[in-house]
Amino acid sequence: MIATGGTIASKNTGAGLAPAMSAKELLACVPEIAELCRVQEVQPFTLDSTNIRAEHWLEIAGIIEREYDRFDGFVVTHGTDTMAYTAAALSYLVQNSPKPVVLTGSQKSAYLRDTDARKNLADAFAYCADEGASGVHVVFDGSVILGTRAKKTRTKSYNAFSSIDYPDIAVLRDGKPFYYIDEEKGGSPVFYRTLDPDVFVLKTFPGIKPEIFDYLDTHCDGLVVESFGAGGLPDYGDGALFERLKGFLSKGKTVVFTTQVEREGSALDTYEVGRKLRACGRILEARCMTLEATVTKLMWALGQARGAEAEELFLRPVGKDIF
Ligand code: ASP
Repeated sequence: MIATGGTIASKNTGAGLAPAMSAKELLACVPEIAELCRVQEVQPFTLDSTNIRAEHWLEIAGIIEREYDRFDGFVVTHGTDTMAYTAAALSYLVQNSPKPVVLTGSQKSAYLRDTDARKNLADAFAYCADEGASGVHVVFDGSVILGTRAKKTRTKSYNAFSSIDYPDIAVLRDGKPFYYIDEEKGGSPVFYRTLDPDVFVLKTFPGIKPEIFDYLDTHCDGLVVESFGAGGLPDYGDGALFERLKGFLSKGKTVVFTTQVEREGSALDTYEVGRKLRACGRILEARCMTLEATVTKLMWALGQARGAEAEELFLRPVGKDIF
């Protein structure tokens, strides 16, 4: 078990909830886990997941790589706010894993009486210890969701996570997984040790100004444009945003277009506002990938290569992230 903080481990500090429980204290809340498997725990950091970023994903993946041969599976306890980003990042950093890496957390602290923490933790270990489990997944509120497909879609309810444009892999009933999808187990894992954190997400909104590129041109290697609907860029009569995007691409940087609509993905060639982008240079399209997968995959691709090679890595499917 790799404990990283989050609400699941939080207590009220007087200045708001903050992670305070140790991994051992958390495990002690769910004694039935000991009947299922032997658990060793590490706690590389204790954070509200708001504070988690690329360096933490590399640290978690590094622990998994170092300890891979000693354990049959890995449960990562994590705050819910950025859990989907961590799940996606780990899906790129630890590929083709025949052993399961399972992320879980809770909406209410483990020490509260009506908490979802005990069930989520018990379910995470039950899935992790199951013969059929492999690869990176989120286990939450009885659902097993693919790491590249998870998204936090509710801030308060126990069913906080949804699987976007892909079915749940399994459900847990009375602590046993029932599979909807038989996943192919990876042969041997491939670990990656680098990410490029200099990626920016530009959400378009009516009236967006081109001057944002003054910053983007000098501060990032990769850009994800979260555009409207099927995808496109506003022209506003002067085409300034198109010009600035062209300039950004001419510096050898990578641009991915996605949509701010939660489901069904982008289709950039549908409308003139989207098709016109093709004249700006080579633009990648995230299609049905989640934003979390798009951002972390771009960090991963740019961490391994630049230019055409990074683009090829980005478009290659990993863990059913793109169709
Ligand atoms: N702010 C918390 C976190 O992400 C929320 C949670 O865990 O549910 O760490």
